[in-house]
Amino acid sequence: MVVAGFREQIAWLEEKGELVRVPGEVDPRYQLAAIAKKMQSGPALYFEKVKGYDIPVVVGTDNSRARIAGALGTDNEGLLRHYISAIESPVEPRQVNTGPVKEVVRTSGFDLGRDLPVPTHYERDGGPYITTGLLVAELPEKGIRNVSMHRLQVVGPDEMGILMLPRHLKAMFSEREEAGRPLQIAVVIGTDIACRLASVTWGSKIPLGMDEFAIAGALRGRPVELVRCETVDVRVPADAEMVIEGEILPGVRRPEGPMAEFTGNYGEVWENPVIKVKAITHRKNPIYQDLLTFTPEHHLLLGLPYEPVVYALVKARMPNLKSVCVTPAGCGKFHVVISIKKTHQGDGKDTIIAGLYSIWDIKLVTVVDDDVDPFDPADVEWAVSTRFQADRDLVVIPGAKGNELDPSLPEPGITAKMGIDATKPLTNSRRFERIGIPGFEDVNLEDFIKLK
Ligand code: MN
Repeated sequence: MVVAGFREQIAWLEEKGELVRVPGEVDPRYQLAAIAKKMQSGPALYFEKVKGYDIPVVVGTDNSRARIAGALGTDNEGLLRHYISAIESPVEPRQVNTGPVKEVVRTSGFDLGRDLPVPTHYERDGGPYITTGLLVAELPEKGIRNVSMHRLQVVGPDEMGILMLPRHLKAMFSEREEAGRPLQIAVVIGTDIACRLASVTWGSKIPLGMDEFAIAGALRGRPVELVRCETVDVRVPADAEMVIEGEILPGVRRPEGPMAEFTGNYGEVWENPVIKVKAITHRKNPIYQDLLTFTPEHHLLLGLPYEPVVYALVKARMPNLKSVCVTPAGCGKFHVVISIKKTHQGDGKDTIIAGLYSIWDIKLVTVVDDDVDPFDPADVEWAVSTRFQADRDLVVIPGAKGNELDPSLPEPGITAKMGIDATKPLTNSRRFERIGIPGFEDVNLEDFIKLK
């Protein structure tokens, strides 16, 4: 089945034993993050009692590739194809008059820090951060909507700091700011994986003006239903848990940060734009959705959007390309595993060239044959250990362009790139034949062992 909506995803996970409830009181300052970090490779967590708040917090719904794929009705192998086809054949959202997110509407008397259980995650984080808010902005006169995810620092009762990289939202804000006007926005909290993944979709096939909610509709096979906000001319999913309405102020910059980065290091304090909050709307009994940075969930939401981009660029050169995995452990940016059906002895090296050239951030490409699972780090390491010889199969390119946030860079923006060709030689040698057990695929474990 394909889940649509945050609550449906929670129920689906719970049914499968992949979400557990935490009944005891947990402090949103560090303690919640500590538990979530220890459980980052386990089930999602539903914190029922968050100290000082009556809103529960859910974290980790999307902390494995298999779970993301399953929620979208596919598997690891099918996810990339499903994602590519969602981008190619989007399903436009539908406008509706109202929805659960309007059950409570507050246009005054709210206080972000008091009302919402926004956790503080890491020791040197500048304070509580909303880390999985989908920021929706519209330029109604141009018919343009953009949905993107940004870190949002809660700095006052009606004020948030925002980090905006030079992408679509920044372009929309700059257009308003140059005219001396604010940009109306809404921050949506509590959404399904389709909306989250769509909001981080990236690349030349997603120009400014392409509606990410339409990608979400295609990902989950059902249009996203949108309602108009109360105080801004912006539309948001009607079934979200909560929405913060506001404006990004022109000509205002205030200190924002530091915050734990995807690299597992701290960032710096920047002078960044500010959001003035005008209203909060939410369900009667809302659930707050959190994302702990530097976890598989974070790295999957960073890495998955790279995969269609790498796939398209490598496929153009290497028709034998089979699959692409941007690994979560490579911070969802730096390391990619590419599997190919090798037909020419030079295919491994050519795939390294194409992969390293596809996105600047990538600094390691490992190429494996199509009998290796690129999504299984142990299988990939097996291929490196039995099919790779460093003097013959290693490629190192010094002095290339790299991601500024990588702390190992020798000078700003400059990185070495590495390729590992772990494909076997194109011979019929039985030395490389994988061992197998007759009937392996036909054995259904549950016929023999009681699981769960
Ligand atoms: Mn966009």
